[in-house]
Amino acid sequence: MKEGEFVLSLDFELLWGVRDHATRDSYGKNILGGRAAIPLMLERFERHGIEATWATVGAVFCGSRDELFDALPPEELRPQYSNPALSNYSYLDEIGPDEFQDPYYFGASLVETIAACPGQEIATHTMSHFYCLEAGASIESFAADLDAACELAATRGITMRSIVFPRNQFAASHLEVVRRKGFSRYRGTPDTWAYRPTPGRDQTLARRLLRLVDAHTGLLGPHLYRPESDNVPASHFLRPCSGRMAVFHPRHLSVIERAMTKAAQEGSGFHLWWHPHNFGHDTPANLVGLDRIIAHFLRLRDEYGMVSRPMAKSGAKP
Ligand SMILES: [Zn+2]
Repeated sequence: MKEGEFVLSLDFELLWGVRDHATRDSYGKNILGGRAAIPLMLERFERHGIEATWATVGAVFCGSRDELFDALPPEELRPQYSNPALSNYSYLDEIGPDEFQDPYYFGASLVETIAACPGQEIATHTMSHFYCLEAGASIESFAADLDAACELAATRGITMRSIVFPRNQFAASHLEVVRRKGFSRYRGTPDTWAYRPTPGRDQTLARRLLRLVDAHTGLLGPHLYRPESDNVPASHFLRPCSGRMAVFHPRHLSVIERAMTKAAQEGSGFHLWWHPHNFGHDTPANLVGLDRIIAHFLRLRDEYGMVSRPMAKSGAKP
């Protein structure tokens, strides 16, 4: 029997990932807290031999406004979303000169730290946090966005092999582009209605509620996968331990642990993902949760031979 695999992916996006609905004022503290949490996560990953994937927004690689502006795709190839609030190009005016003065948008030093940590994979989360399924997003603009991200990573000596689509939006045509450009893994979604890729307008209350219930009960199943194709689908989103939901966090962790155990026992894959900024508020409580998941993985490694792999190595021989 094949060994089970444990994949972690983090969508590293700073303010680019939430700017359509949040600002420095409303969410900046979480962004800064998320930055501070990254070395704490890396320290744990390194200590326990955990190889995670960091799906990084291209713009986050940059250390300055000048570098960013040089790296962006030409204007005629930028996405023309029907809703301009979705476009991160709408916010270029508010960006500061460099990472020191604007840590909300630039993360060059952190990308360097992550890349230097053993076993960590730098993947892409597109250049501009591109929304593939939103009205006005053409396939040409997606391809140009991806090219820009790859070129920027190449300036750091990084060749990216895996992609996480922002808001998990993609269709077959986007996968074709991604494969053509040399990517060998993508993060799909659990194969059930509540998780299927949709534009933002179809993320109804019903879908969100069902996912919330699933996260705390496992109602929709463990969402495991066979590690054998370029799709390394998400099993669960690690929800932040925060606010009124904090009291239910242990239940959420139990659902994750049960699914991990099943994956280890039957030799399938379990894929957990989150954003560093989810740890940006109540960081100690969130780290306690992560420690519990890591401790569970270590037990499964000892008992069943489960292995930690970044997305790019999903399905690989140990
Ligand atoms: Zn994102």
